[in-house]
Amino acid sequence: MDTIQTFGIPALISTYENYIWALVKHDKCWIIDPGEAEPVLKFLTDRGLSLQGILITHRHGDHINGVAELKQAFTNIIIYGPEKTPFPLIENRLKEGDKVTIFENYPLHVLETPGHTEDHISFYNNQHLFCGDTLFNAGCGRILGGTPEEYANSIMKINHLPDQLDFFCAHEYTSDNLKFARLFDPENNELKKRAQQFNTDYPNRIIDAAPSTLQEEKQTNPFMRFHQGAVRAKLEAHLKKTDTGTSSLAELFNTLRGLKDEFDQTGEFTLLS
Ligand SMILES: [Zn+2]
Repeated sequence: MDTIQTFGIPALISTYENYIWALVKHDKCWIIDPGEAEPVLKFLTDRGLSLQGILITHRHGDHINGVAELKQAFTNIIIYGPEKTPFPLIENRLKEGDKVTIFENYPLHVLETPGHTEDHISFYNNQHLFCGDTLFNAGCGRILGGTPEEYANSIMKINHLPDQLDFFCAHEYTSDNLKFARLFDPENNELKKRAQQFNTDYPNRIIDAAPSTLQEEKQTNPFMRFHQGAVRAKLEAHLKKTDTGTSSLAELFNTLRGLKDEFDQTGEFTLLS
């Protein structure tokens, strides 16, 4: 497989803290989830790149609001997105099992990953995973349209992808996610190391290397670990103290997501045991 360069273009800084991912080969570029056009146009101009097309993971404005302006500037580009996204500028609609070959010898496969929203898809091959708002560094997206069951299934699909994949998410929430993860899973030594190594120099640089691997997420991200080990045991204990007391994957995931929502709002969470 040819070498493809990946760049994270910071966008919507101080509101949503998005990364718009750029895939570059020679002077050609594909863009994933342009929530605004201006930083993409600057990136392309600065590097003398020609835009070939756009990939969209889901319906939210911070992932699609730059598409119209980019399409005006580059009329020949192709726009791919999920089959279920109600966004008229999507020209090629994708579902699970579809494949988009954006560069010669560089196909991206489509994985349906609903849960954050009902329409969410992710893109992957044997090098890279681009999963929008489904999974973040040390965290995951909120449930804004999908169901806990869908979300749990989507995370399990990602869990089954190979460890070595470089992992690219659409928001820079690593710092807060690591705080929650450390409180929830304090005995996890890999997580402890990750939190120590993390440094927050974003957004003063363009990230030109993958910020994480899937292996790192499997080892340290509680949302990739809710189905097993110490993370599951804590969630099971918590559920036993509540009215439901059941522990399907959907229940376990939803409980963890609920605790993170509580942490996001109040800076703490109450785990029953
Ligand atoms: Zn979203």
